[in-house]
This record gives sequence, structure tokens and C-alpha cells, in this order.
Amino acid sequence: LYVEHPLGEGQTVPLNRDQAHYLFGVMRQAVGAPVLLFNGCDGEWRAEVSEAGKRGGALRCVERTADLRLPPDLWLIFAPIKKARTDFIVEKAAEMGVARIVPVQTEYTNADRIRQDRLRAHAVEAAEQCGGTFVPEVADLIRLDRLLADWPPERRLLFCDESLAGPSSDFETRSKGEPWAVLIGPEGGFSPNERERLSSAQFAQSVSLGPRILRADTAAVAALTLWQQALGD
Ligand code: SAM
Repeated sequence: LYVEHPLGEGQTVPLNRDQAHYLFGVMRQAVGAPVLLFNGCDGEWRAEVSEAGKRGGALRCVERTADLRLPPDLWLIFAPIKKARTDFIVEKAAEMGVARIVPVQTEYTNADRIRQDRLRAHAVEAAEQCGGTFVPEVADLIRLDRLLADWPPERRLLFCDESLAGPSSDFETRSKGEPWAVLIGPEGGFSPNERERLSSAQFAQSVSLGPRILRADTAAVAALTLWQQALGD
């Protein structure tokens, strides 16, 4: 269970209404029941239910069962698509392990806002399902030109470009060293202006995800898989 509260031996962790409903209403847990907790920074803890109510309750931390496992310092940047497929991308990125998820508005992106809280909830749920100890940050929607203008100098950008075609790029030689980000475009691809801007950026290099054009949600999973295969991380 993910909680936004410090975890440590003997620490009491209050539960909100939703958490109490889930633990006591849905999972039928009672006082004394063991629950595994994480908060994204203190690792995983075994706790016990110390108070159970309809509108809340509390847990008491007993012992640390796993250290914090940080994902690679990789950002996934993607243009939001339809709601369910955007949720899918966030969920899969959290499962596969990225440090930060950045929804980006490109010229051909239809969405002009996102529900950051909802996407964050998907990331939390994915981490809970996978026994993770870390939840990636979900950034607010940012325009691509703005993101590129303020790009951190040390981070390199792998720009997934379906026009390269051919076999998938070698992520291994491209991904050594620096912190990285992977950029996936929207359903309509990148505009000529954006292509130009990305091709001329010192920090960016284009990569192919294989000979076929993938849907953006498939492309996100394929890019993270190639990354993981190359770095084992
Ligand atoms: N431009 C195409 C179009 O409108 O028909 C398709 C865009 S594709 C659905 C969405 C994004 O997925 C692309 O912008 C790219 O970032 C990524 N992508 C899909 N297939 C790819 C491939 N084979 N290699 C690299 N990137 C790919």
C-alpha cells in the first residue's frame, strides 16, 4: 500500500477514508493484520493494523522488508493521446521503471490539458501492483518548444522517429553515461518544424523502434523495453 507518510520502526501511519475502505471494507482486514507499505523514499515496511474504522484507521510500522529500489534516471516524454491509452502509457512506464513521466503538448497533440492527479494515481497503482518501492514523478503538461528551450544540459534525448524505418536502433551504444530521456510523438507524428528543431538539438539523437510504425502507446513500451535490454536496468 502506498502512503504519503514517513516510515520507520514504531511509526504510526494514519489511513485516509479511501485506504480504510480498501483495507477494511474490500480486503476485510482487521486490527493486527499485516500490511506492506511504501512511500517512495523509505523502502518497503511491514506494518500492522492498529486501528480500523469506516472512515479511517492507522497502521504501525514493524520492520523494513526491502530497501528503496530506484529506477534508472530515465524520463519518458510522450504526447497524450486518448484517455485510456494515456493511462496505459503511465501505468506501463511505472511498471517498467522510469524516474519521471512528462506529458508533452506537440503541434499535432489534441489534448490541451491532462488530469495530473489521475495519472499520478495510475502510477501509484502500478507501483503497488508490482511490489515497487518507488513511484515516478508525473509532471504537468508542457509544450514541446518550452521543454526543449529549458532542456537540462547534462541530459540526452532519444527522439523516437518512425521515419527512420529499418531495424531498431542500438540503444546500448546510445545510452551509456549521461541521464537520458525518451521522446514519443503523438498519433499524427511530429510536425516538420518539430522534426527540424529535434534534429538540430545538440542533446538529441533520433532512434528507430523497428521497421513498422507503432501506435504511440506500443512505441512507449517498445522504447522502454529496448532501453532495459540494453542497460539491464
Ligand atoms: N507519423 C505517423 C503517422 O501519423 O502515421 C505515426 C506516428 S506514431 C503513431 C506515434 C509516435 O510513435 C511517433 O511520433 C514516434 O515517436 C513513435 N514511433 C512509432 N513507431 C516508431 C518506430 N518504428 N520507430 C521510432 N519511433 C516510432
